[in-house]
Amino acid sequence: MSRDYYEVLGVDRDATPEQIKKAYRKMAMKVHPDVASDPDSAEKFKEVQEAYEVLHDEHKRAVYDRGGDPNGRGGGAGFDGFGGFGGAGFGGAAGGFDFTNLVDAMFGAQAQRGPRSRTRRGQDALVRQQLTLAEAAFGVTKPLTIDTAVLCPKCAGSGAEEGSEPITCATCHGRGDVTTVQRSFLGDIRTSQPCPVCRGYGTVIPRPCGECSGEGRVRHKRQISVKIPAGVNTGNRIHLESQGEVGPGGGPAGDLYVELVVANHEVFSREGDNLEMALRIPMTAAALGTTIEVTTLEAERDDSDEADRTISVEVPAGTQSGTRVGVANRGVPHLRGGGRGELGITFVVQTPTKLNDRQRELLEQLATEREETNVSPSVHKGPKSVLGRIKEAFGG
Ligand SMILES: [Zn+2]
Ligand SMILES: [Zn+2]
Repeated sequence: MSRDYYEVLGVDRDATPEQIKKAYRKMAMKVHPDVASDPDSAEKFKEVQEAYEVLHDEHKRAVYDRGGDPNGRGGGAGFDGFGGFGGAGFGGAAGGFDFTNLVDAMFGAQAQRGPRSRTRRGQDALVRQQLTLAEAAFGVTKPLTIDTAVLCPKCAGSGAEEGSEPITCATCHGRGDVTTVQRSFLGDIRTSQPCPVCRGYGTVIPRPCGECSGEGRVRHKRQISVKIPAGVNTGNRIHLESQGEVGPGGGPAGDLYVELVVANHEVFSREGDNLEMALRIPMTAAALGTTIEVTTLEAERDDSDEADRTISVEVPAGTQSGTRVGVANRGVPHLRGGGRGELGITFVVQTPTKLNDRQRELLEQLATEREETNVSPSVHKGPKSVLGRIKEAFGG
């Protein structure tokens, strides 16, 4: 059994629909996976949605309040309703609840009477959007082509051809269900079933709309514009309310989720909100020290300041290969709160490969000068390396 829905939304049990809606918006914004830093946020968000689905629906809420399963899972028998006993539904009425309530709760799904609506809420839609690293880091507004069901422009969702309208079903007289009576030695047994002619709607459409064949919705490609905030990463989803599929019978649209995929960059890799890059420097520069102009990710941003497109990186004399320097505030902006990660630059010292005679001579002179012409005896002379000390400790 999931948590108490009222508790999930943080409302009293006698909250008005308006209060429930307000609480839902507040909670949804708080725990939305795109906004919340909590790793459980996706789970919490689902919980909040589930609670809202039930509590904002008058019928489902009533079933839930009686301890029933508001989603009518478990089919005809409805025994899943017993799960509700663990909930708060019966808490206040322990020892004295009304038996008819119990029956209603068990058959919650069947308790609904009358024709069902042709109009149902549409499904949520999910699309993926690829972004460059710069777009993800600094934010972008993207045009997006989406292909979803939309309200039929011809019948506006009614499903009826122009000039006609749905008429009351002659078989069930608009009730949506038909009752058959069987006589047995115990008496009459009444069985109620959805009307086979109108499929429970209580009305039939004599002349279905030619555009949507009576569905009330048609598929349509459209362009929307999505604002993507700075600092997003692969897996983040942008939630666009009511931009999903329009429901059957022109029912309210579901939501649209845009899932983001950030492409790899050939220079920068992303570690959280830090950017990391390798910077190759010549052996001589590493030994003598220098200053290098490095192109930043800002260079790929159209509206960035010229001054931000490069930074000067100091390479101290004697820099070893693998040394990393971090440049603060040059990484990816944090999605929540201000500030940015850092830009990590790891130096890779390059040994020259193609030497001409003159260069070889110079290096040989240097080697002689530094007494490095025969390096093998000096390997053990210097301060012991970490690896050397470990080997020693293990008698290696
Ligand atoms: Zn239509
Ligand atoms: Zn009917």
